[in-house]
Amino acid sequence: MTGTSTPAPFTADDYRARMERATRAAADAGLAGLLVAPGPDLVWLTGYAPTATTERLTLLVLAPGQDPVLVVPTLEAPDAEKAAGAPVLTLRDWTDGKDPYAATAALLDASGRFGVSDNAWALHLLGLQKALPRTSYASLTEALPMLRAVKDEAELRLLTAAGAAADATFEEIRKVPFAGRRESEIAADLADLLRRFGHEQVDFTIVASGPNGANPHHEVGDRAVERGDMVVLDFGGLKDGYGSDTSRTVHVGEPTDEERRVHDIVREAQEAGFRAVRPGAACQEVDRAARAVITDAGYGEYFIHRTGHGIGVTTHEPPYMIEGEEQALVPGMCFSVEPGIYLPGRFGVRIEDIVTVTEDGGRRLNNTPREMVTVD
Ligand code: ZN
Ligand code: ZN
Ligand code: ZN
Repeated sequence: MTGTSTPAPFTADDYRARMERATRAAADAGLAGLLVAPGPDLVWLTGYAPTATTERLTLLVLAPGQDPVLVVPTLEAPDAEKAAGAPVLTLRDWTDGKDPYAATAALLDASGRFGVSDNAWALHLLGLQKALPRTSYASLTEALPMLRAVKDEAELRLLTAAGAAADATFEEIRKVPFAGRRESEIAADLADLLRRFGHEQVDFTIVASGPNGANPHHEVGDRAVERGDMVVLDFGGLKDGYGSDTSRTVHVGEPTDEERRVHDIVREAQEAGFRAVRPGAACQEVDRAARAVITDAGYGEYFIHRTGHGIGVTTHEPPYMIEGEEQALVPGMCFSVEPGIYLPGRFGVRIEDIVTVTEDGGRRLNNTPREMVTVD
């Protein structure tokens, strides 16, 4: 899911600073510029979130030494002019029947290499390529993975508020009946609660009960939850344009000793991952710290995904807490720490908090109990 809902309340100056930073980063990466289609990058850079992404070209052009230009269909121009970043943009509108690629090509270095937002339509990229056959292109996320990774204070406030709303959702869902109700019904409760606590967009509401919990990709189904089940809950979305994402694993009634033990291991792993968060540490160190606890306890082969992902105007973005990622943590980065153990055919446990890097370690944006909670 991409997150292009209510733009957050930033000023034109904030957007100008972001566009300047992005343009400098592009130049430093050897790019002739950035081409940004509607989606999370455009929201972050300009505050502009067109209601529909269409076959008509909308494209932000950022190039060193030029003012930012937003190419936009004439019929969308009135909406684009309302975007918070519009005052620091030059709008270049084009009407049906005209060739928007030729008009855009006139703005670009004809033999340059450009970073293109990942979600740009192939239709548009191919149109540009035809208009400028000597240009080449790179994924914006691959070229500038950390562009949106370090959050400023206003963004941190929004992410903190989104985390608090997800926590409030957990505090309510733990009170509802689980036994005898379908996963899909509990998921609907989660979505209602997220909206009630201020989310304008719900991205996922995972309710994975009993053996379904052993599949980290299981979202929700018709299975009726039974007494004795472990239930993985993982939910989030966007509140005021910024993401939440938290997991807790609850038990219906009293857990067995084994269920308690596995839950304790995941809780220790989550704690170890959290304690590894400090400026200068590599992302992979967070993964290693969490994974070591699970491996040492003998469950290494059952922890089958990376430890975490970044979060901001989307619920999944760089940086990734994964072996091989040597990117150093920087104060202001926000990401999940979410180890899990998945026992095929039996049950799964995952515990997830969003964590932000501070000068002296990590700060959690989720603060509901990490000890196992029992539900009815
Ligand atoms: Zn059980
Ligand atoms: Zn999650
Ligand atoms: Zn997550």
